[in-house]
Amino acid sequence: MMENDMLPLARDDRFQFACNPAVPCFNACCRDLNQFLTPYDIYRLKSHLALSSQDFLSRYTVEHLGPQTGLPVISLKGDPEDLQCPFVSTTGCQVYAHRPSSCRIYPLARAVTRSRETGALTEHFALMREDHCLGCRETRTQTVAEWIEDQGLEPYNHFNDMLMEIISLKNQYHPAPLDLREQRMFRLALYDLDGFREHVKAHGIPDGVPMSGETPETLLADDVKLLAFGHVWIKWTLFGEVPIP
Ligand code: SF4
Ligand code: SF4
Repeated sequence: MMENDMLPLARDDRFQFACNPAVPCFNACCRDLNQFLTPYDIYRLKSHLALSSQDFLSRYTVEHLGPQTGLPVISLKGDPEDLQCPFVSTTGCQVYAHRPSSCRIYPLARAVTRSRETGALTEHFALMREDHCLGCRETRTQTVAEWIEDQGLEPYNHFNDMLMEIISLKNQYHPAPLDLREQRMFRLALYDLDGFREHVKAHGIPDGVPMSGETPETLLADDVKLLAFGHVWIKWTLFGEVPIP
C-alpha cells in the first residue's frame, strides 16, 4: 500500500495524475469533508448560486474562530450523517466551474512565503500522495505550472495571497487574538461581501484607507473590486499605519 506523503515540486516539475469519472475512487475526496473556504471561494460560489453572501453562509457553511488567533474560519457544511459535500452528485461536482481553490489544486499543495525586506512572494509546491486517491496511478502527466493553468487557479491564488498577507501581518503585528469588534469586521469585509457593500453604503469609507484610484461608486458596482478593497480595508483597520509591503 502507498504511504501518505508530500513530495516537494518546483513549477516546472512534472507529476503523474488525472482525475475523471473513470477512476475507481471517483468522488471519494468529496466525502468526509473538511473544506475551508477563502473569501474568493465564497464570492465565486455565492455568485454562481445567485445567493446573497448571508444566505450562502447560513445555508452552506459552518464557522468557528481560530483558538489562538481569534480569526474567523469558514468551512463547507458537510452532510450531518456522512460529512459529504453539499455539491457532490453521482455525476461529480455540481459547482465544478466555481469549485473552491482547495478542490482545484488537489493533489498539489501550495504555500507562499513573503520577503520582509522586499515583499516579494515565493511559491512552494508539494504533491500530496494519499492512500484514498488513485489519480496518481493514471498515466497523464503535467507540470505544476500546467496544472495551475488548467485548473483556473490564478485568480484564486491572487486573492488567497492577499488573505495570507493579512494573516502574516496579524501574526507579526497583532499576535493577540482578535477582539469581538475586529472579528466582526474581518468576517464582514472578507466573507460577507453583500453585508460589506451595505456597510460601505451606510457608513462610507474612512479617510486614509488607500483607494488605488477607485471611488466608492466603482467599488460598489463591482464585486471583485469590492472584495479586493475589503482586504485593503481590513489591513488598514487592523494595522493602521503599519507599513504594508
Ligand atoms: S465543491 Fe465540488 S469538488 Fe469540492 S468537495 Fe464539493 S463536490 Fe467535491
Ligand atoms: S482521483 Fe483523487 S481527486 Fe480524483 S476523485 Fe479520486 S480521490 Fe478525488
